[in-house]
Amino acid sequence: MSVINDTIARVKQMDRDQVEFHQAVTEVLETLKPTAERHPELVKAKIYDRLVEPERAMTFRVPWMDDKGNVHVNRGFRVQFNNAIGPFKGGIRFHPSVNLSIIKFLGFEQIFKNALTTLPMGGGKGGADFDPKGKSDAEIMRFCQAFMRELFRHIGPDTDVPAGDIGVGGREIGYMYGYYKKIQNTHTGVLTGKGLEYGGSLIRPEATGYGAVYFAAEMLATRSLDFKNKVVAVSGSGNVAQYAIEKATQMGAKVISACDSNATIIDEKGISQDKCRYIMDLKNNRRGRISEYSDEYSCTCYEGENVWEVLKKQGIKVDIALPCATQNELGKEEAESLVKNGCICVTEGANMPSTPDAVKIFQDNKLLYGPGKAANAGGVATSGLEMSQNSLKMSWTREEVDQRLLIIMKSIHKSCLDAAETYGKKGDYVTGANTAGFMKVARAMLAYGIV
Ligand code: NDP
Repeated sequence: MSVINDTIARVKQMDRDQVEFHQAVTEVLETLKPTAERHPELVKAKIYDRLVEPERAMTFRVPWMDDKGNVHVNRGFRVQFNNAIGPFKGGIRFHPSVNLSIIKFLGFEQIFKNALTTLPMGGGKGGADFDPKGKSDAEIMRFCQAFMRELFRHIGPDTDVPAGDIGVGGREIGYMYGYYKKIQNTHTGVLTGKGLEYGGSLIRPEATGYGAVYFAAEMLATRSLDFKNKVVAVSGSGNVAQYAIEKATQMGAKVISACDSNATIIDEKGISQDKCRYIMDLKNNRRGRISEYSDEYSCTCYEGENVWEVLKKQGIKVDIALPCATQNELGKEEAESLVKNGCICVTEGANMPSTPDAVKIFQDNKLLYGPGKAANAGGVATSGLEMSQNSLKMSWTREEVDQRLLIIMKSIHKSCLDAAETYGKKGDYVTGANTAGFMKVARAMLAYGIV
């Protein structure tokens, strides 16, 4: 469809160096071609061109002082991509790799993910090229305050509601929210992922990892399979990975791996609930390295390699793969090795962890492949539930929120399958997730006229 090809070409020409953004736009728009054929009104209103252009993108200076009195300057970002169906919503990432391309790819993906949750949330994303590793607690606080000193003027409970992402967990949200409250003199649901004592929702920390496993369970059920006695590989050891490991183990699987940016551990005996709690304490409280796990539990540790590289090199077989670390962590050769070793299901806890080549291999080999924008939507869905609880000034129980999360993940799964079938790609979760999310946003944009 030439309209879609033109839009992709235009993005590549206008934003030449934004490779991650090109990757995300190409992946989504390629699957939207049937919508352009079936809905000429969307083409006429230039919905595809409008979709790839953020409402606005801010970059800003974040000056802060370290413990020794040295001044540093980082670059902050907030991309407010699309608010057709609700306030902009999406996480904040603190990582040295952060740049406009990465924030735009994440914000773009967030539009469809948020639409899929069925909750009224638009898409956005933000962050800074700040490296939290090795920083003291006081330095983290000063950085979060410096970041919020500019961000506060762009956000609000009905405008833009940020949350956490890589490098931004409960501690950082606490510092940012505390500072926002101080300078705005208002206690309002402007960030999600807050602590329970000040407006957070139960199950929010667990939601992305749990949700990804619930989604994988739904996918497996379409082939009369489940997690029981399956060997599972998880990558990462942060928020998403920790709760994916916990839930998969609770469902009867044996999870054998975790990693961080330095090393991978393979524990053939399985990461039990106790061992998972050790990882949570190691990463969330002691801020240690995953290699310490191998000393504690006498298992193998591979320095300088991620989970997928280790599985390939060592020829380790897994039934289910849950990439939960970062973008483009799983490439073509690693995908071929997973397929060769009998993997049946790949469900993404992270955003865009599989390269386009890897995705093609999963699809060509008929694996159950659940893209991140559907499979990891449980986090933002529970953020949506946090926003509802904040505006109602009430809080739901752990069981209530978990139940709602499960229902949402089942409904996202069904929407993906239904949309895939409607647009002639039965069983293709990528087409399903993209078209289901897109059609909701596109109809709203059409209703508003040319704005
Ligand atoms: P965290 O910062 O809590 O954890 C990220 C983990 O991935 C860390 O263990 C980190 O290691 C590891 N990691 C980062 N880069 C690499 C790399 N290049 N190679 C190997 N390991 C790496 O982030 P989250 O768990 O919150 O996020 C993980 C992914 O899930 C991201 O893609 C994020 O966008 C996505 N996501 C998160 C949501 C959430 O609710 N938190 C919601 C939806 C998606 P190290 O400790 O060394 O930094």
